[in-house]
Amino acid sequence: MPQAGALRWPADAIQALLDLPFMELMYRAQAVHRQHWPQGEIELATLLSVKTGGCPENCGYCPQSSEFDTGVKAGKLLSVEEVTCAAKAARDAGATRFCMGAAWRAPKDRDIEKMNELIAAVKDLGLQTCATLGMLQPHQAVALRSAGLDYYNHNLDTAPEYYQDVVSTRQYQDRLDTLAAVREAGISVCCGGIIGMGEAPVHRAGLIAQLANMQPYPESVPINSLVRVPGTPLADSDPADPLDFVRVIAVARITMPKARVRLSAGRQQLGEAVQALCFMAGANSIFYGDKLLVTGNPDVENDARLLRKLGLQGLRATA
Ligand code: SF4
Repeated sequence: MPQAGALRWPADAIQALLDLPFMELMYRAQAVHRQHWPQGEIELATLLSVKTGGCPENCGYCPQSSEFDTGVKAGKLLSVEEVTCAAKAARDAGATRFCMGAAWRAPKDRDIEKMNELIAAVKDLGLQTCATLGMLQPHQAVALRSAGLDYYNHNLDTAPEYYQDVVSTRQYQDRLDTLAAVREAGISVCCGGIIGMGEAPVHRAGLIAQLANMQPYPESVPINSLVRVPGTPLADSDPADPLDFVRVIAVARITMPKARVRLSAGRQQLGEAVQALCFMAGANSIFYGDKLLVTGNPDVENDARLLRKLGLQGLRATA
């Protein structure tokens, strides 16, 4: 455990956890998980791309960047009717949280006004709302909160030392500034990263250290396994060892015991056995639905079947 007065979780303590024998790490993560999440339900969140493609950023993993030839066409912001229809379907399928993603570098104030209409409509359905819209100014975060936004997703992706290998159109500090504005506005933070981008183990420890040492740490921590999309710079990255991915989930659970650790992009390629290990390591949230922004996701029926097989309950909507 970290020393009093020091960082909650120094990177070397996190590295030591990642390096534990696998069974020991799983045992520790499961103990923390049971202590803090005795009911053990899995949160089901649905993600809808409300404005797809044409993004001026160059995140090396992302098919929505206008710099890469990935076949993703730029679209306009969806209407209130379109989003309401998708949110109703998500709610009826059991989702409790509805996340809306827009491929902007940083929204303009008029974009925020339109987003606020979407947020209010989703909120009216009794769903928790989440948005991921790029970098925010403090006044924009306040406006989103006033419209009823519960969560804002803004991922750190990796450790600061590896960040410029992944994206060069912004700085790590830009991410931290937006996260601070979101927190200051009273919006809960959803923030995580991606495994399998060619990062070294030290960068995985560095990412978890960034997250776990936030005060407070994020309420939701999505951990993604890189989906290697043809046309993106990271399309040919060596895939991460699935057991190393499970290790990162376990360490996220141990270091951020009250966070919803979300098994996010890349579940399709992990297979059921590795997903089961992730749940055992402390993952307690999944993206639910057949598409994750623009990449595939296990379909709803498959997910329901897997949860049943494992005797896991989805956290159902109350509205
Ligand atoms: S991850 Fe987001 S910011 Fe980066 S290119 Fe894709 S849509 Fe743009």
